[in-house]
Amino acid sequence: MSGNRKDTLVYPLPYSTEFSGGEYEFSNEVACNVSTYFKNDDVLELLQELWTNFTLGAGKLNIKKSTSIKENEFAITRLVEKNSFPILEKDFEYVIDVNAEGIFVSSNGEKGMIHAFTTVLQMIEPKNLEIGKEKFIIKNCCICDKPAIAFRGIHICIFPETTLIFIQKVIRLSGLMKFTHIVIEFWGMLKYDVMSELSWENAYSKDQIRPLIKEANAFGMEVIPMFNHLGHASSSRVVYGKHVVLDQNPRKALLFEPDGWTWCLSNPDTINLLKEVRKELIELCGEGQYFHLGCDEAYSFATCGLCKNTNKLDLLTNYINSLADDLKNYNRRGIIWGDALLDTTKWKSPNYATSRPDQGTHKILDKLDRSLIIDDWQYYITEGTVPTSEHFMEKGFDVILSPWRDLNNIRALSSGAQSINALGFLVTTWNTLNESIDLIPIAGECAWVGDRKKGKIEVDLMRCVAASLQRKLVPVHGIYKDAGWHEDDTKR
Ligand SMILES: [Zn+2]
Repeated sequence: MSGNRKDTLVYPLPYSTEFSGGEYEFSNEVACNVSTYFKNDDVLELLQELWTNFTLGAGKLNIKKSTSIKENEFAITRLVEKNSFPILEKDFEYVIDVNAEGIFVSSNGEKGMIHAFTTVLQMIEPKNLEIGKEKFIIKNCCICDKPAIAFRGIHICIFPETTLIFIQKVIRLSGLMKFTHIVIEFWGMLKYDVMSELSWENAYSKDQIRPLIKEANAFGMEVIPMFNHLGHASSSRVVYGKHVVLDQNPRKALLFEPDGWTWCLSNPDTINLLKEVRKELIELCGEGQYFHLGCDEAYSFATCGLCKNTNKLDLLTNYINSLADDLKNYNRRGIIWGDALLDTTKWKSPNYATSRPDQGTHKILDKLDRSLIIDDWQYYITEGTVPTSEHFMEKGFDVILSPWRDLNNIRALSSGAQSINALGFLVTTWNTLNESIDLIPIAGECAWVGDRKKGKIEVDLMRCVAASLQRKLVPVHGIYKDAGWHEDDTKR
């Protein structure tokens, strides 16, 4: 048995890969038989496209639903009827057996099937690409696979500079890396029905976004809608000072605290507006169990004339609990960032907290609804444990751990999530994804592999891996502006 990177180029690294010598060889067309019970037709359609892409435009996968195939099994063969499937061991997601006859897969469900598909695609090797003589192989082997962490999420931001093809690349690469959840945050880039000023003029319509949601779902990923319900109300980054609402219509000022950065919780118009936003996003993003409410960096919370004269902490507690209640109507749980619930006087570097003594927002923690999930972003921890996450769990909350772009930070938090048995792991990407899309395979590998293998991750190699996979996931047909993941090769 081997789980070493040198033996396989599949990302994330499978639990075990055993090569048996020889190979399965195929040319242009192969047959893929799946059970008639298989429901996710979108992934079958997507898989046909990806099979052609991963065979560099030469191959065709003919998918057929068959009553002779058991639920949660599939076969890719030249000969249709000769199927013998490997036995899936307990606790594993899928097992793949490749032999001279073809590829045979058993899994624990549709998501296991999809994950097996994403592994098989990466195993295809071209041998001859001359027209009319095309030949591909997959080495004979047995792969047994399962993840270290069940909830493996990625948070992506859609900025005015983010193109639709870039989002598609990110979604497809995340799907290939077997992420389970994708949080989408629109930075003024979705057109809402409730208020036009919530979006910039070049924002995407819901009809432009729906096909991307469908692709994420096809990969078995749940899309988690996100909208900032406290700080970050400008829908822009604090560093450059743009404001999606107030730059377009200053008369909307009372929706916010005086500086515009935080929503005003005393204004009923704000409460109603945000309720409508949640409803629209939930309708757009498809079935799911969660909604990300943001609630970080609430620097100017309760600074207006109305908010100042109330009990600020009660105002905040009641507000967040009312959001949790509203989400229960949709059978969803709210997710909130943890920083404002951590006391700056208690949590010192490398732990990060934002509840300052003059605000004291950490004091509301005990009164918050336990249906809320705390997303503990800790970007400065690069080794050891994550005590803030343990603190939230001791208080009775489910916790998700969030790193950012630093490799050691990603490793420490995936390891931390696994060791304290947290609800999940959610890598954040913010404004840096279009300069480092290799973050997706790196984080995907850490979340899938966990502490099982602590081999060296070569960042330069991961960049090449990301580029190679991108070319197959979303071919650009020679169009320069669509190639790679940055529009300007002279930057950085
Ligand atoms: Zn106010």
